[in-house]
Amino acid sequence: MALSIRPINTGMIQVDTGIHITQGRNVGKKVYIPALTWLIEGGEKLILVDTGMAATKMADWHHKGSYQDEGMDICSQLQKIGVNPKDIDIVIFTHLHWDHCYNMKEFVNAEYIVHKKELDFAKDPIPPYYRSYESPVLGLEPPFVDVSFTVVEGEEQIIPGVTVFPTPGHSPGHQSVEVMTDGGNYIIAGDAVFTEENLKGAPDEKLPFLPIGRFTSYLEMWDSLVKIAKRSSLILPGHDLKVLEKEIYK
Ligand SMILES: [Zn+2]
Repeated sequence: MALSIRPINTGMIQVDTGIHITQGRNVGKKVYIPALTWLIEGGEKLILVDTGMAATKMADWHHKGSYQDEGMDICSQLQKIGVNPKDIDIVIFTHLHWDHCYNMKEFVNAEYIVHKKELDFAKDPIPPYYRSYESPVLGLEPPFVDVSFTVVEGEEQIIPGVTVFPTPGHSPGHQSVEVMTDGGNYIIAGDAVFTEENLKGAPDEKLPFLPIGRFTSYLEMWDSLVKIAKRSSLILPGHDLKVLEKEIYK
């Protein structure tokens, strides 16, 4: 069976466009963006990429006004399409920020794959990132605590047709996922690309891309945009409502 990708939105996050999505552009413009996860079907294993965001109380603490309506959590949504969380074989994490790894312990039979640098940083982030990773320093329990991961350290094929590759910058160990479908090779970019605005760039200013607003390394973030765009033109950004216009990518 050919591989296909189904985007699943686990909630809505309110952000400032110029602070989070397109650095320095449209500062002060508040928008709602989806917290996307991706189900990869048709392969020799059933794969989920990211497990999505927290319920409303924590989501609102992270970004005021964010919400996860009843039934929007990843497990409820999978059940709606006939997938039991127990049936997921592999969960690949693009990174371990709060809006990408909530409810991960529900996937009791899954292997959890993350980049080594991401896991190391998530466990001991610099203080400005305590909130993003829900650090115990703040009296919180991160979603990934006591979970055993398979760590990868570079490009690696997970199953035939599904490959992870490093795209750091948004976070130190961020990775993206390439999926070979009959329609071409799609890149599940994670937060290396927030929305299609990042990919449109600003041709008048000779900018092939617009940098994202949140990053641990500006240079790595830029290199990852270049790397992703070189690899494919079929790019699925991590927080773009438009990807939901299509139910399945194949
Ligand atoms: Zn995110």
